[in-house]
Amino acid sequence: MSGAVTAAAPAKINLSLGVGTRRPDGFHPLATVYQAIGLYDRVTVTDADDLTVSVTAQPRIPVDGVPLDDTNIAVRAARTLREHHGGIRRGAHLAIDKGIPVAGGMAGGSADAAAALLALDHLWGLGTPRAELMRIAAGLGSDVPFALVGGTAIGSGRGEVVVPLITVGEYWWVVLESERGLSTPSVYDEFDVLRDGSSVPDPEIPDALMTALRVHDVAALGASLSNDLQVAALRLRPELARALEQGRLESAHGAIVSGSGPSCLFLCEGRSHAVQVAGGLRSLDLGPVSFAPGPVHGARVVTTDDGR
Ligand code: ATP
Repeated sequence: MSGAVTAAAPAKINLSLGVGTRRPDGFHPLATVYQAIGLYDRVTVTDADDLTVSVTAQPRIPVDGVPLDDTNIAVRAARTLREHHGGIRRGAHLAIDKGIPVAGGMAGGSADAAAALLALDHLWGLGTPRAELMRIAAGLGSDVPFALVGGTAIGSGRGEVVVPLITVGEYWWVVLESERGLSTPSVYDEFDVLRDGSSVPDPEIPDALMTALRVHDVAALGASLSNDLQVAALRLRPELARALEQGRLESAHGAIVSGSGPSCLFLCEGRSHAVQVAGGLRSLDLGPVSFAPGPVHGARVVTTDDGR
């Protein structure tokens, strides 16, 4: 089979991110509510002799931090899929087009892995069952299963155990990106320093957040957003505190660091409110500003020209 297959996968945000004490395997136990929002990476795969990768991006996104070798998570996804099918000898070129900031705390790499899995599964005609794709995804990274599932979901374990939530209505998010990424391991290290070796109870999801989601109460959701990594991210990037404050002054219902940062999220009443808040933040020149609705679908194949 030859041709090109494109899959798109959304950015993730964490409406709550509870982080427990580091486990012996180095991971932290998480209790999180994920939401997929409408910023997308696209991965287009075409037949090739070897596995190769190239990266382009929307103008606001610097891509110098994205590796172009076997360490690129999309290439790792391709290798893992081949191994899963008995080491089949197929190659592909993976052209990644990024709409999700790199090292921005929005799981852009995980989105690429999820999109690559779906696109290659289609290009190579493998028909991998969904449950097997989910297992492969979990082996690739903690956020990859959610990138496949999308919507709004509870995450536990190290984030790889994903249970979808049925919610009502749409939310609008303003995203303030940063030109310089933040390394997730360094934020977790800072988090451990701040906890100073004290062990904490297993993290839980706040009841108030679940109630707000159940009834689509935007103001209550804004008030119950939480992120245990925020203090650590602010220690590494003190200027983000001002950004969060500005978003609140611009009348956002809630302002929070996204995952391990440095992207900041501002919850708005609806689309026109998001346009207004985004405009206010843009005039302050703190970094690239975009806005997007959530929840949106998980990764899916969007175009094929392979005749199927
Ligand atoms: P995490 O998913 O760990 O929270 P993040 O969302 O903050 O991370 P990503 O954009 O996923 O950030 O990238 C984290 C790092 O992964 C990058 O700095 C880069 O070195 C590496 N990386 C590997 N493959 C990719 C990819 N396809 N896209 C972006 N980064 C990648």
